[in-house]
Amino acid sequence: MAREEEYDKLPDKDAAKEFYAKYEPKELLGRGISSTVRRCIEKETGREYAAKIIDLSNDDATLEGTKQEVNILRTVVGHPYIIELQDVFESSTFIFLVFELCKHGELFDYLTSVVTLSEKKTRYIMKQVFEGVQHIHSRGVVHRDLKPENILLDDNLNVKITDFGFAKKLEKGELLHDLCGTPGYLAPETLKTNMFEDAPGYSFEVDIWACGVIMYTLLVGCPPFWHRKQMVMLRNIMEGKYSFSSPEWTDISESPKDLIRKLLVVDPKQRISIEEALQHEFFQSVKLDFDTIQIKEIGSVKLQTSKFNARRKFKMAILFVRAMVRIQRLRFTPEPLSVDTARTDPYRIKLLRKIVDGCAFRVYGHWVKKGEGQNRAALFENAPKTDLKHIYLANLSR
Ligand code: ADP
Ligand code: MG
Repeated sequence: MAREEEYDKLPDKDAAKEFYAKYEPKELLGRGISSTVRRCIEKETGREYAAKIIDLSNDDATLEGTKQEVNILRTVVGHPYIIELQDVFESSTFIFLVFELCKHGELFDYLTSVVTLSEKKTRYIMKQVFEGVQHIHSRGVVHRDLKPENILLDDNLNVKITDFGFAKKLEKGELLHDLCGTPGYLAPETLKTNMFEDAPGYSFEVDIWACGVIMYTLLVGCPPFWHRKQMVMLRNIMEGKYSFSSPEWTDISESPKDLIRKLLVVDPKQRISIEEALQHEFFQSVKLDFDTIQIKEIGSVKLQTSKFNARRKFKMAILFVRAMVRIQRLRFTPEPLSVDTARTDPYRIKLLRKIVDGCAFRVYGHWVKKGEGQNRAALFENAPKTDLKHIYLANLSR
């Protein structure tokens, strides 16, 4: 018996010993259901990493799950927008996964600190997310838990997709049936598969749906399908019921809305593909190549092609910058302040709205919990609750 115990403990100690011999663990970076993530330093090089320490003692399923996670991490390795797995130490009670460190943490916390992202920043982030997901899919893997908590940001605010705990490698044409992920990001087909006997199952398209939910959330700070009652939220998802009617959307241009409409399509077969999404006009930035500009001389038949003319190039650059500044100023010109609107509906005024939302997040930001709660949306609620409305109206009519 004593022998058996010794056998059980031996490999553990070795794995832990090996890890601690090579790395020095530092402060906590994050915590999951059965894992803690700490910053650590490789003793030999002084380089920083993030170690995900998984406790296997609670449940047998964790070991299988972690082995699958490691397998998948190795399948999707080698892309700039996917987290890099550096080292693995395995024992029967703990597994240590050593990852590249993302100093800027989760996109979730970044969003909470800035409340909303501009169209330009959203474009920057979403392009990388789509390219990362495209790579994951190209390796036959579906992620199944894409959300701002699982998108990390490195030193240069570049995206690193992480947490492959629910990811699955699919055989050609294989459909999945199990319910996993985070409620607010679940695709309609995932929910339907679990509700209706004759539902066909789901596949890669669930990640594209989640991208739609993420993009919506980045632009206005709150998620598209949130409802205090989770059942209502799930029904809204299955019906694809969301809107661009909140005041935040009035300042947002048509092209991101169009892309979101094409991402949040209930039927996965009709949903836009990643390739098409990356081709969408939202991601097409204006290209101006000064070297190819042709200048037509008025009054002469001569068509002059400018090869390299430093002076002309400089002049064009100045004109371009001046125009850009003007266009930008135009967008940020404050709306005329109407005292009437400010009195009756202050939230309609962008400047006041930004102040109100900013204050709410500064005071209550720590309440915004991760995962299923989606209570970020609660901080954006500016319409009275229906039950309160009844009381208010009843009082009015008295
Ligand atoms: P879980 O499967 O438990 O959700 P994750 O892999 O998502 O575990 O990690 C949990 C949290 O730890 C992340 O949401 C993030 O805050 C932090 N974290 C994970 N990996 C890194 C990393 N490489 N760099 C910085 N922080 C990280
Ligand atoms: Mg996670």
